[in-house]
Amino acid sequence: MRLAAYACDPGKSRGRRRIETPAPTRSEFQRDRDRIIHSTAFRRLVYKTQVFLNHEGDLFRTRLTHSLEVAQLGRSIGRSLQLDEDLIEAIALAHDLGHTPFGHAGQDVLDRCMQGHGGFEHNLQSLRVVDLLEQRYPEFDGLNLTFETREGILKHCARRNALTLDAAEPGGVAARFLNGQQPGLEAQLCNLADEVAYNAHDIDDGVRSGLLSLEQLEEVELVRQYLRQALAEYPGLSGKRLLAETIRRILSAQVYDIINATSAALHDAAPADSDAARAQAPLVCFSPGMRQASTELKRFLFAKLYRHPQVQGTRLKAEQVLRELFEIYVRDPAELPADHAAAAAADGAPRACADYIAGMTDRFALREHQRLTGKTLF
Ligand code: MG
Repeated sequence: MRLAAYACDPGKSRGRRRIETPAPTRSEFQRDRDRIIHSTAFRRLVYKTQVFLNHEGDLFRTRLTHSLEVAQLGRSIGRSLQLDEDLIEAIALAHDLGHTPFGHAGQDVLDRCMQGHGGFEHNLQSLRVVDLLEQRYPEFDGLNLTFETREGILKHCARRNALTLDAAEPGGVAARFLNGQQPGLEAQLCNLADEVAYNAHDIDDGVRSGLLSLEQLEEVELVRQYLRQALAEYPGLSGKRLLAETIRRILSAQVYDIINATSAALHDAAPADSDAARAQAPLVCFSPGMRQASTELKRFLFAKLYRHPQVQGTRLKAEQVLRELFEIYVRDPAELPADHAAAAAADGAPRACADYIAGMTDRFALREHQRLTGKTLF
């Protein structure tokens, strides 16, 4: 597969922070992808959830299946645009590695616990996992990934955090947040594929959980349009096949929309290479109509699913679990496993405790909370 001039070329990577001998048969980005798949943090994604907790059912998305869906969508679109598929896959599989147990509820409560100690942000934590926390190599901490994969993992970054990161790594992955540049096109694509993936699978999980109904979802233009189209072609279609067919059509429409809108943007901007693409406004995009439709869907899911009383109830208990774990560990670092207790002694208890808690799976956090408090919240 020939790469476009504006793609990130693995042969021209800005490299790894620690220089390594190139692999004989794999590109630098393939090697990143392989390192991510073999990491401990990646395996834990299977027991970390986004909206529904693991124990609520086996059929809902976890962070692992979400990451695989982002990789599938990203690669499929990226191939059409002649971007580097291995880099897309590496970023997609790593983009959620820093997420805490219990989805966004977990990240919000850890951020509150870490006020005065540098805060907690899942994107920064994903970078911290691949740069520092994975312990698999004799010669370095982390996975020593390429610049391009790391820049894709650091999706958002507040100015304050960017200044700290840039002081430690001048001109590195945080520099673009200070000089107003974009990441490479593969990273831009993963960001958009993430939105496409979670909108679609949250409709699916929302309806299958019984918290949303397809009738209710007809409020949303994008759902209404493709639900009606599916019924026009297959009158009498109902239940899970209607749900799946509607979602399949939404996904296809969004994939082709991104391919067309981005091809047009790339044609107009004609970036000569990946750095020229970084210097432009974002080039991977929806058409204006699809942007609006996707935002409408996102708002609907936020109001009706993520803020659903049943989801909120779970959220409050999840927050209590992590808050109490944090308080106990900070008070008594001896409760931490030996390597985390050593990190607490070296770098301060709050950061070491946040790292330890962020790495937990949902069920491990619940077990640990029960062990330390005697309470059973779920
Ligand atoms: Mg995601």
